[in-house]
Amino acid sequence: MKFYEYMGYELIEKIKNKEISIQELIEASLRRIEESEHLLHSFVNISKEKALKKAKLKDKDLKNGKAIGKLYGLPLANKDLICIENYPTTCCSQILQGYRSPYNAYVIERLVEEEGAIHIGNTNMDEFAMGSSTENSCYGPTYNPWDISRVPGGSSGGSGASIASGQAILALGSDTGGSIRCPASFCGNVGLKPTYGRVSRYGLIAFANSLDQIGTITKCVYDSALMLEIIAGKDPLDSTSVDIKVDNYTAELNKRIDEKIIGIPKEFFGEGVDREVENTVKKTISKLESIGTKTIEISIPHLEYTVATYYLLCMSEASSNLARYDGLRYGNISENLSGDVYDVFSRTRGERFGPEVRRRIFLGTYALSAGYYDMFYIKALKVRSLIKNDFTRAFKKCDAIVCPTMPSTAFKVGEFIEDPLQMYIADILTCPVNLAGIPALSIPCGFDKNNLPIGFQIIGDYFDEKGILNIGYQLEQELNIYRKSAPVIKGGN
Ligand code: GLN
Repeated sequence: MKFYEYMGYELIEKIKNKEISIQELIEASLRRIEESEHLLHSFVNISKEKALKKAKLKDKDLKNGKAIGKLYGLPLANKDLICIENYPTTCCSQILQGYRSPYNAYVIERLVEEEGAIHIGNTNMDEFAMGSSTENSCYGPTYNPWDISRVPGGSSGGSGASIASGQAILALGSDTGGSIRCPASFCGNVGLKPTYGRVSRYGLIAFANSLDQIGTITKCVYDSALMLEIIAGKDPLDSTSVDIKVDNYTAELNKRIDEKIIGIPKEFFGEGVDREVENTVKKTISKLESIGTKTIEISIPHLEYTVATYYLLCMSEASSNLARYDGLRYGNISENLSGDVYDVFSRTRGERFGPEVRRRIFLGTYALSAGYYDMFYIKALKVRSLIKNDFTRAFKKCDAIVCPTMPSTAFKVGEFIEDPLQMYIADILTCPVNLAGIPALSIPCGFDKNNLPIGFQIIGDYFDEKGILNIGYQLEQELNIYRKSAPVIKGGN
C-alpha cells in the first residue's frame, strides 16, 4: 500500500479497521525517508528505533483493547525548535549543538504522549527560524520535493518537504512572520497559523515572543483541524495562552459557507505579486463565488509598512531573546578561552551564530539602543497598532479575507541568499497576520507553468480558526488537487 497517498484521517480509519498495523505505517514512513532523504534533507535527526518500538507497543495496546489516543500512531515530524524531553533540539544552530531539553513542549505532550502520534524525527529549519528558505540552517539547506533545485520555503522548510514527499503525515511548525504558511505554499501543503495565544508556546524556543505561534503542516485541511483540536487551549505554563473554548474544528468543516462574506484586500494583489500567482488566486476566488459566497473589496491601508514593522520588531525581540546564548547559561562555549569573559562571550557568539542570526542581533540591538529606541522600536509598535486596526475594521465588513500566501512560487536555491532585503520582502503577505495576531490558513490552489504549487491564504478574525478551516475545507473539496503528490520521488512503498 502506498500509505503516503492517504490522508491522516484515512490512515486512522485503516488502522481502526485493522487493514494496516501501526508498525507497517511507521516502517513505510521510515522507508520513504530512506528513499528520499538524500534528495531532500528534510530531517536533522531521525528517531528510527524509538519510533518502531513505540509502534509495536501501540499495536499491542490496540490489540488488548487499550486506548491509544486519537492519532493512532500517525508519524509526526517535529520542527527542530520544539522541545522533546532528552532529545536533541538545536534550532539548526551551532550554538545549540549537544542541547537536550529536560522537558516536553506542551504540543508534544498533547500530540505524542496523550493522543498517540509517533515522533519520527526533527526537521530542518532556518537557524532560530530566521528566514524564508531553510538555507540558513547550520546543517545545510532542504530541497523542494516539487523541484529539488528550489527551496521548500521557510523557516519550517523541513516540515513542509517531509509532508509534501510523504515522509511524514503530520508536522509541527512555528510561524513568526510566515514560517508555516510559506513552506506550505511552496510545497503544496496545508499550513495553519492559529491566533496568537490559541496554542501554548511552552517548550517552543523563542525567536520573537510577541509574534511566535506554533501551528501545523499537513496534507489536507481535515488533518490540520484534527491536530488543532488537540493542541489548542489554555496551558497554565504559557501565560499568553488564552482560556477560550476550543471548538470542535473537524465537526464544523462540512458546514455550508454560502452565507459567508469574503473580503479581498486590494493592496495584497499589488506590485511584486507574480502574474501566475495572481491569476490562479483570482480564479480560486471565482470558485468561492461559485459555491455561493459573496465577495467584497476591502482595504488594509498600512500593508506597505508591514515588512519594515515586522523586521524591526522581530529583530529587536530576537536580540534580547538570544542574549542568553553566551556559552555559559545556554549554548556551547568557544574552544578558545583566552581573554576576559566578554572576549569569550563575543567569540562564542561570533563563532556559533550564523550570518543571518548575527545580522538580526546587530540590527535589533541597534533599534533598541538609547536614542534609537523611540525612533525605531516604539514607532514600530505604533504602526503595529495601526495594522491591527486595519484588520479589525475589515472584519466588521467580512467573515474572512483571502489573498495569495506568497507573492511567488518556490525560488531557486541560492537565488536570494546574498540579498536579504529581497528575501524579507517575500513576507509581505504573511507577516501582517502575525503583527495583528490573527489566524490564517494556506491551502494549495493550483500550479504555475513549472508545475510548482501556488498557495491561497485565508485569514480569519481572532480565534475564528473554525471559520477559516471551514472555508478551506469546502474550497479544498471543490478544487480537488490536494491528493496530487510531488513528482520528485515516484514509486516507493
Ligand atoms: N521569513 C520570516 C523571517 O525571516 C518569518 C520567519 C518565521 O515566521 N519564523 O523572519
